[in-house]
Amino acid sequence: MSMFENLFLKHSFGELGATFGRQVDPTPLENTRVLTINQSIADKFGLTREMLQSDEFLGIMAANAPISGLAPFAMKYTGHQFGVYNPHLGDGRGLLLGEIRDSRDIWQDWHLKGAGQTPYSRQADGRAVLRSSIREYLAGAAMTGLGIATTEALSIATSDTPVWREQQETGATLLRVAESHVRFGHFEYLFYTKQHEEQKQLADYLIRRHFPELASQPKPYLAFFTEVVKRTAIMIAKWQAYGFCHGVMNTDNMSILGLTFDYGPYAFLDDYQSGFICNHSDHSGRYAFDRQPDIGMWNLSALGYALSPLIDSEGINEALAEFSPTMVREYSHLMQKRLGLEEITEGDSVLFDQLFTLMEEQHIDFNHFFRVLSHLELNELARACELKNLGDDPKKVEEWLHLYAERISDLSEEEDLLRRKTMSMHNPKYVLRTYLAQQAIEEAEKGSSKMIEDLVFLLSSPFDEHPEYHHLSLPPGDDGKGMVLTCSS
Ligand code: AMP
Ligand code: MG
Ligand code: MG
Repeated sequence: MSMFENLFLKHSFGELGATFGRQVDPTPLENTRVLTINQSIADKFGLTREMLQSDEFLGIMAANAPISGLAPFAMKYTGHQFGVYNPHLGDGRGLLLGEIRDSRDIWQDWHLKGAGQTPYSRQADGRAVLRSSIREYLAGAAMTGLGIATTEALSIATSDTPVWREQQETGATLLRVAESHVRFGHFEYLFYTKQHEEQKQLADYLIRRHFPELASQPKPYLAFFTEVVKRTAIMIAKWQAYGFCHGVMNTDNMSILGLTFDYGPYAFLDDYQSGFICNHSDHSGRYAFDRQPDIGMWNLSALGYALSPLIDSEGINEALAEFSPTMVREYSHLMQKRLGLEEITEGDSVLFDQLFTLMEEQHIDFNHFFRVLSHLELNELARACELKNLGDDPKKVEEWLHLYAERISDLSEEEDLLRRKTMSMHNPKYVLRTYLAQQAIEEAEKGSSKMIEDLVFLLSSPFDEHPEYHHLSLPPGDDGKGMVLTCSS
């Protein structure tokens, strides 16, 4: 009898029918070991130590045990990759295992990435490498810690299955957890194959499962699309506010719930560089950091077009018009907190513009700057060597600090204390920097998961001091800055 039987209660997506994908048996990996488990996610599902250490859980991670009663399912979707429509996408190396209720009574998908080939693998191997699985695992924890909606990962397993990328690598699996794995590309697939009934079926399913309150609205599909627009706008505003660069914002990597989804060559900015391109394969800079809001809008327009059988064009445009104001509102709100301002006034755009110019020209570490600023008392600002040392030319930094000091000059001592407190709660000390993820990967490849676990701990409460880990809060040296990553994973 299965220990997980009572947890995996359904597979509602798999029951939608053959249009939506295929049941696929996972292909086991050799000599699989569970490398690490995110305890706070395990707790969310009430998974006991006994369950997590069981052969059955290992079997799930090793892709050799179908969970009792549930047939793993590869989802079919399509999407626009770098602006070009590709009809041949789908879960090529991951399987939706089923849905499980968490302690908040929310159904969550469990999806095993790296589980072997599916009908949508095309020529590829259906596998995930350890390196990318670790990066995705860490990213989920980091985004959650920052309050940015994301998929998460319960666990990673490593194996003796060799996987060939530019060189031979270690095959791994990742157990991804999310309220939904439905992407913009699911609707594009149904639209471009003219399966309009099925498209309605999918929209009804999503409304039933995730937005039951919308079902009674006069125009439920429009209300649903409006919700997707808003969630996407808020997600991207948060990316911009914290310096997160997704790297591959193809429409098949955009979640219908506004979750940060499909971590590939993502990066958090080290030095502020508005046009930073983290994806080595992105030659035109389509997905550069400062283009993300425009691309978000482009992707939503593609989704809106695909939804045209369900929503009239007036409605689609009305919903799309919400994107920009929602994004700007959320972004301003966050940046206001990051600078410790009680409200945004007219002159503040100059303060912000000059700050961004300063950071770009002086090669200032984006997140570190805000963190250091959070600790300086108003009357210390002018002498703030800690900050001046962050830029190439201390004079330029000083000039901006004067502007800032002037802006907050009428704060009482008490109010200034409050400013610093607010700032510390919005300016993370610990950021998932590429060089740190890289160190965790190198250690894991030598068999230790300690660095992964330390990072998950720190990134889960990134605003706390954790003085014993101070060294992991520091910006990289020149050799670790702005590392570029490839799509290959
Ligand atoms: P991605 O670049 O992760 O957004 O993936 C794009 C498409 O390629 C999706 O349909 C994936 O399922 C598929 N894919 C990516 N990597 C693999 C792989 N190693 N094996 C099979 N399919 C893959
Ligand atoms: Mg993808
Ligand atoms: Mg991917």
